[in-house]
Amino acid sequence: MLGSLQLLQPTTVDEASGALRDFAERGKVYAGGAELLLLMRHGLLQSEILVDIKKIERLHGITWNDSALSVGACVTHHTLETHPLVREHAPSFAYAESQVANVRVRNQGTLGGNLCFNDPHSDPGTVLLVHNASVTLGSQRGERQIPLHDFFLDVYETALEPDELILDVQIPSLPGGMISAYLRLHRFQRPTLGVAAAVKLIDGAIAESRLAVGCVGPKAQRLAELETKINGSSVNGAKRILAEQKNYLRDVFRPVDDLLGSADYKLYMTGVMLGEALEQAGQSEGKSH
Ligand SMILES: Cc1cc2nc3c(=O)[nH]c(=O)nc-3n(C[C@H](O)[C@H](O)[C@H](O)COP(=O)(O)OP(=O)(O)OC[C@H]3O[C@@H](n4cnc5c(N)ncnc54)[C@H](O)[C@@H]3O)c2cc1C
Repeated sequence: MLGSLQLLQPTTVDEASGALRDFAERGKVYAGGAELLLLMRHGLLQSEILVDIKKIERLHGITWNDSALSVGACVTHHTLETHPLVREHAPSFAYAESQVANVRVRNQGTLGGNLCFNDPHSDPGTVLLVHNASVTLGSQRGERQIPLHDFFLDVYETALEPDELILDVQIPSLPGGMISAYLRLHRFQRPTLGVAAAVKLIDGAIAESRLAVGCVGPKAQRLAELETKINGSSVNGAKRILAEQKNYLRDVFRPVDDLLGSADYKLYMTGVMLGEALEQAGQSEGKSH
């Protein structure tokens, strides 16, 4: 049961940030509430005042400016999975969004809420990393933009200050000729493993690649060292290299045995699925998105 709560519905970022500053620990940002209300119902989080940010118009748009998508923090997963601009300019991101939970959660949950909560078992962040996405954070003190890989700090931890909101997510298109794919493995609704690969092939050889993995470690991460290793190889050659990276992946992700599987199983599957994602992206050589 939830105790009585006060609901504030600011219409500007300034107002919302002011409320967060004034109420400090007593106030919490409330977007879709998919995580927040669950935590409060289970007594894992206490709050007296919910700062509902959905009335702030700035947090709702999806626009394209010829090189990047801008997605407002309060856009829901369901809108993202179906939106024509997202499907055209970031199709593997639209696909990842379509894999989130179930239609009820996708209708309720927002991209901003997903990224701010930073549960390691999430889908969107992994594929956004191969797009070199960044987030715009705002408060009464102004706005700042930081790369997503700097925003994710640790399990449930981000670079957000207590009086800040995510305002929007900037998603640059991939370089010309580069195609991406997102694959996930799941036993329950949340993913056990999510991998994103983007590749540009020239005459069958990898000219440029981007790899990211989520769920296996505390946060989703790009694998820059592995990207360098596979550049110049064929897709089959790269798959062989990826299958041999257990030690490297163990150092990066420090996986643990849990109900989703042993650390060894997760590492093995990470190598296999990175190879699969690379192959899927590589099959579309000549196209670009
Ligand atoms: C049953 C279930 C299954 C799920 N399965 C998946 C899955 O398969 N894949 C996946 O990726 N996710 C999954 N999720 C997570 C889901 O995507 C998130 O719950 C949802 O996106 C959170 O968004 P929200 O708007 O509801 O956030 P809220 O619950 O409103 O907020 C979450 C947190 O973020 C803060 N917050 C929210 N928006 C902002 C903002 N703009 N600025 C600053 N702080 C903010 C809140 O204060 C709170 O701490 C699942 C969740 C549930 C309940």
